[in-house]
Amino acid sequence: MIRMDDVGAASKRHEVYGLTRIALGPVRLPFPGNVLWLKYLPPIKRWGPYRELEAPEWYAIIDALAKAGARMTVAITAAWVEDDGTLTPFPRKFPGAARAIREGVGAGLLEVAHHGLTHCLLAGRAFRPRLFAGNRPYHREFYEFLPPETQEANIRRALTILSEAFGAAIVTLVPPGNLLQPVTVEIARRHGLRFLSYRAPTTRDGVLPVVGDDCGVVFHDRDVVLGGVAWLHARLAALGAREIRFVRELGERLLEGAP
Ligand SMILES: [Zn+2]
Repeated sequence: MIRMDDVGAASKRHEVYGLTRIALGPVRLPFPGNVLWLKYLPPIKRWGPYRELEAPEWYAIIDALAKAGARMTVAITAAWVEDDGTLTPFPRKFPGAARAIREGVGAGLLEVAHHGLTHCLLAGRAFRPRLFAGNRPYHREFYEFLPPETQEANIRRALTILSEAFGAAIVTLVPPGNLLQPVTVEIARRHGLRFLSYRAPTTRDGVLPVVGDDCGVVFHDRDVVLGGVAWLHARLAALGAREIRFVRELGERLLEGAP
């Protein structure tokens, strides 16, 4: 499988942190990379901000997949978190990209996976950049302290947004930041999600089978934004003639007990 994470996730705007160590020969010196604007400047800047992929890039991605005989699972965060904490559903925030992805799903080249509703902690505006610190710990969603009712509401709302936007059943959950709780998995199963895919060992035991990151190539939309669609071309070329399947197809195989 190849899986691209963080499509539609506002963490690309709000998750800002800087380099806090700088290598000088064999020594790693402390560096105040999170102070004020320093964290926004390359090469100190580590993650965000970066922009969302646009419709023409999506059509180029779909074209690249078709030509390579490949397919890709796209982990989409269902709602964009605005600066004031309000949520805008992905298809309303990025209608062009949503249309292109829907065509890719229709052509059997894209699987849309659930990558949370917000990809960050809304409480106390924890997701917003800080003046003197990074904010990386707040860019996950299914924290142990997030009440199960909130987790359920987020999972359900995201499922509604994604299945309506892309005209397909959503069966794969990719937990934002590789974080989820046992109760999250129970809720996911209750709402029809069938497979998990994240940085965890591949297994068919457990409440839901896990198609781990080790089953393929995992990256972020950030890689394509920064490297261009050429970056994806290079990854596809490196895979050569290897068979590439959706996460959900690998999940089915796991359940069937195939090697
Ligand atoms: Zn993510």
